[in-house]
Amino acid sequence: MQVIYIDEDKYQYDIHSLFKAFYPEEDVRVIVGKRGSVPEKEKDVSPDDEISFIDVDKTKNDLKKEIYLTLSEKTGKNLPWGDLTGIRPTRIAMNLLEEGKSEEEVFCYMKETYLVSDEKINLSIDIAKREKEVLKDIDYQNGYSLYIGIPFCPTTCLYCSFTSYPIGAFKGLVDDYIECLKKEIDYVAKDFADKTLDTVYIGGGTPTTLEPDQIKELIGYLRDKVDLSHVKEFTVESGRPDSITRQKLIAMKEMGVTRISVNPQTMSDATLRIIGRQHSVAQLIEAYNMAREEGFDNINMDIILGLPGEDASDVQHTIDEIIKLDPDDLTVHSLAIKRGSRLFEAIRERELRGELKTTMLESMKNTGEMMEIAKNGAKTLGLEPYYLYRQKNISGNFENTGYAREGKAGIYNILINEEVQSIVALGAGTVTKRVYGEGGRIERCDNVKDVKLYMEQIDEMIDRKRKLFA
Ligand code: SF4
Repeated sequence: MQVIYIDEDKYQYDIHSLFKAFYPEEDVRVIVGKRGSVPEKEKDVSPDDEISFIDVDKTKNDLKKEIYLTLSEKTGKNLPWGDLTGIRPTRIAMNLLEEGKSEEEVFCYMKETYLVSDEKINLSIDIAKREKEVLKDIDYQNGYSLYIGIPFCPTTCLYCSFTSYPIGAFKGLVDDYIECLKKEIDYVAKDFADKTLDTVYIGGGTPTTLEPDQIKELIGYLRDKVDLSHVKEFTVESGRPDSITRQKLIAMKEMGVTRISVNPQTMSDATLRIIGRQHSVAQLIEAYNMAREEGFDNINMDIILGLPGEDASDVQHTIDEIIKLDPDDLTVHSLAIKRGSRLFEAIRERELRGELKTTMLESMKNTGEMMEIAKNGAKTLGLEPYYLYRQKNISGNFENTGYAREGKAGIYNILINEEVQSIVALGAGTVTKRVYGEGGRIERCDNVKDVKLYMEQIDEMIDRKRKLFA
């Protein structure tokens, strides 16, 4: 374990993230306590643990730089994102470009201030320019986007950290849940009548766990109540192939959905079984082809690098199979390992039973080589990177990147990532964000995660939003 004592109660998060990036397989603890005076309650720190003492009497950037250089020398590692610990590196490039800085100035700033690698700086600038272009017609002040959460899935994936309940057990509640969403839609129709709705995103969960008539009921109600005539993109995540049927695709098409996701995560049946997705590669291909037959011309696919037991040859296989399908949009995730998640526990159990040839964490590693394979695959498909974000405990300390064909970039993805426009979110476990002016402050309000509580407290959920936008 890495134990870091800091002399003042500040920058813990950044210090923890930096140490974790250098020591991804170790526990990291940051404790406020003076050098040589270990607080009583921390006496469980073992003499075998590696202990560092840090004085935090510097600016945050200077401190992070100093820690980075020390750890880099000690471990012999250079991190692709340098000492950047935030989750949205493209915002730095975007803000500087908007201030009128040249690309060269942005490059120098990111290099000198955060020690970011040349490759990642160029990627950030490239994406920031593309984001600006995609968002050029979006009115941040008088427009808004709408998110609707459907928190049900066929089964729960082992790495899942979203609000998700098994549809089998919750089927009887879905109609009532939709009635609550309608109440929230009524609120939006009334209170946002003078605003322009730019994008709609129905996510989850898996929205295609709804039956065709429920899809029509929900979207039809939205169409009746809210002016969708300015909507530039209407996405429905149809992520799980085992939830997609032709009738549901027809219902979505009829209702004006313009973009869907059909997500493989991997093209290996063996890995799909390990991660608890109860569909096969063959089902994925069938669902994708069906969506094309029904006229969907903007289909996203998500994949995850660093899945248990997968190496570069598995990623190459996944990419080769995806190239054959030719999606319009490809989102490449690095697995984020959440301690306490079912994935973490399942891998440990399998390791204990001797079923995995490598150790637990070694079996879930994203690498530069895998990232390169995915990047080249996107290039072969003619897709360009258009948004990226990072997560805590992300495998290999890399990033998640969305690639898209020209004109097919997910506008909502950029908006939520760059936080430049208010997003009104409906449904259990969703978060509404109010953005006050360009570059301004952001305030949030949450809907409760528990579906039954959400339904019981629907009036309060609406009231919270009303107060946020008052
Ligand atoms: S499909 Fe997505 S939301 Fe549903 S269980 Fe899997 S990761 Fe979670």
